[in-house]
Amino acid sequence: MEILPVGIYGAYPAPGCASACYLVRGSDATVVLDMGSGSLSALRKYIEPKDVDAFVLSHLHYDHFCDALPLAYYPGRHVIYCPATPSECFTLLKKSPSHDVRVINEGAHIKVGSMTFDFMRTVHPVETYAVRVSEGGRSFVYTADTQWTDRLIDFCRGSELVLTDCSFPAGTPHMTAEEGARLGRESGTRVIAIHFSPVYDASPSLSALGIPEAEAGRTIKAW
Ligand SMILES: [Zn+2]
Repeated sequence: MEILPVGIYGAYPAPGCASACYLVRGSDATVVLDMGSGSLSALRKYIEPKDVDAFVLSHLHYDHFCDALPLAYYPGRHVIYCPATPSECFTLLKKSPSHDVRVINEGAHIKVGSMTFDFMRTVHPVETYAVRVSEGGRSFVYTADTQWTDRLIDFCRGSELVLTDCSFPAGTPHMTAEEGARLGRESGTRVIAIHFSPVYDASPSLSALGIPEAEAGRTIKAW
């Protein structure tokens, strides 16, 4: 299972980069997790949207979903899984006749090719889901945006890898590097940091804790 970070920024991207977007290649299907700002252009460096089997949007904050809107002009029909709130964003996504929008919630279990997707509601200002992607008895977790919650420990336990939102300073709706390290320790999983702030440098704290950082364009082997 390979994950290609296409966009790794939170809030807004650094120049020439993209906000949250991760291309997941399973054995027989391809799925994109999140479509933040700049990601439609960045994604097309690697794959055309017509070759993506489904888009899974963890939540409808702009840095995770806004490029799913111009996707409406791209030829073809696009399968998009996302939460149904905030309703004004959901309505915009639903409006396009080329979008086949399907609602996710906690407990939803979806299948794309041989990959399955399970969801856990995170702690974030809007309805947000961490995603567990599984195939052939193995899995990885994309925490999406979240503050610390003990529930993440069980959700991540037993997975091969956790891509986690632990690169923002304390006091934001995200985890800190220390919390990312705690998640790795308590769930017994390998953690890679994602969702970097364009204005705050998390690298010193991440490297002090031995947490590697995802890099745009550099493939991660989940297993
Ligand atoms: Zn968010």
